[in-house]
Amino acid sequence: MREAIHPEYYQAKVTCNCGNEFVTGSTKEEIHVEICSKCHPFYTGTQKASAARGRIDKFNKKYGVESK
Ligand SMILES: [Zn+2]
Repeated sequence: MREAIHPEYYQAKVTCNCGNEFVTGSTKEEIHVEICSKCHPFYTGTQKASAARGRIDKFNKKYGVESK
């Protein structure tokens, strides 16, 4: 019963869909994630943000809004 009260705590190897691997503390030995700090849009922002801006420019042109 002590195992239940004190679960094993691992240095879990986290593998991301993008291929990035890192280690974090967890009760699991291995974790697989779809997104991490390396490939999350917030961190990889620049390229995707400019793509989004392109779409906004198109939108603005279509509706006659002057974009800056
Ligand atoms: Zn990733």
